[in-house]
Amino acid sequence: MTKRHKVAIIGAGPAGIAAAIQLQRSGITPLVFEQTRIGGLLNNAFFVENYPGFPDGISGHELVAKFRKHLRKWKISLLNERVTNLVKKKNTFFIMARKQYCADKVIIASGTAPKRPKIWFENSPKKVVFEIYPIKNVRKKKIIIIGAGDAAYDYALNLGRHNSVTIVNRTEQRKGLNLLFRRMKQAKYKKHITYIPNTKLLGITQSHNNLITRFASKGERVTLSCDYVLYAIGRQPAIDFLSASIKKKFPRDGGNFFFVGDVKQGDLRQTSIAVGDGIKAAMRIAQRLKKR
Ligand SMILES: Cc1cc2nc3c(=O)[nH]c(=O)nc-3n(C[C@H](O)[C@H](O)[C@H](O)COP(=O)(O)OP(=O)(O)OC[C@H]3O[C@@H](n4cnc5c(N)ncnc54)[C@H](O)[C@@H]3O)c2cc1C
Repeated sequence: MTKRHKVAIIGAGPAGIAAAIQLQRSGITPLVFEQTRIGGLLNNAFFVENYPGFPDGISGHELVAKFRKHLRKWKISLLNERVTNLVKKKNTFFIMARKQYCADKVIIASGTAPKRPKIWFENSPKKVVFEIYPIKNVRKKKIIIIGAGDAAYDYALNLGRHNSVTIVNRTEQRKGLNLLFRRMKQAKYKKHITYIPNTKLLGITQSHNNLITRFASKGERVTLSCDYVLYAIGRQPAIDFLSASIKKKFPRDGGNFFFVGDVKQGDLRQTSIAVGDGIKAAMRIAQRLKKR
């Protein structure tokens, strides 16, 4: 018979990690699933300066290393498995991953997935990316970033140190923080970063090893060649694995399931919010189990 776990956590980004540590402190060892890497989206962040305790800021990579150490300290291990289905039957959750697992309570900390763009280029998935992670170590490449929010500026600040970066914004308006935009304009390597507003992507093709991107800009057609296209056009809740009845409740918590972190935060996606959410859900669960 499948072993029954008290609590399962889906996702080991900041929200899932915080929940796991808090549960462990209460004497409840959670079953934690992570499909890719510990730290979730934070692995993409160049410079985090609003997470309390780091007055000089810290890179996403370093903050993740500290989270990983924290998990180790509390002897929390992860299952490196993608959850493909979560179903509730009576009082039990059935979690389908590489095999089936059972749990009494579930914390859904699955974060977000990139929004699919209208212009899509399937031929070269390694050259058209949705996170900086796969290309963060490339050097001397031409990279086009589509989008003009905080993530786009953060990516440009990161990649612009060693590459030539062009940010293309389809409108005149900028969405992200002015602070980050200014920082990009004032960076020592600012000549590596170009910002083009009011320019809409029309298509991507490939010629030899390069991508050819076509744009409409102020009534004209423009073609740019590059090594990579990085989409930063927004994200949506990662909830494709939920059964219809759990999805119907989203983003509200159910009897024994909790949504924590970016997955339910809309525009308010920040590490400290995710951490707070994770701890809150873990405390509620510990209180309920204690009452029993
Ligand atoms: C470029 C960039 C810069 C940022 N800068 C800052 C900043 O300066 N300050 C700040 O506070 N925040 C910043 N953020 C935001 C921060 O990274 C997020 O708010 C935070 O990571 C959210 O944590 P989370 O745990 O809710 O979700 P995530 O970090 O998205 O983690 C979710 C995890 O769940 C896993 N998962 C999803 N589905 C499944 C499944 N079916 N099975 C198993 N695992 C699954 C994912 O692989 C992922 O690891 C930045 C983000 C980006 C992209």
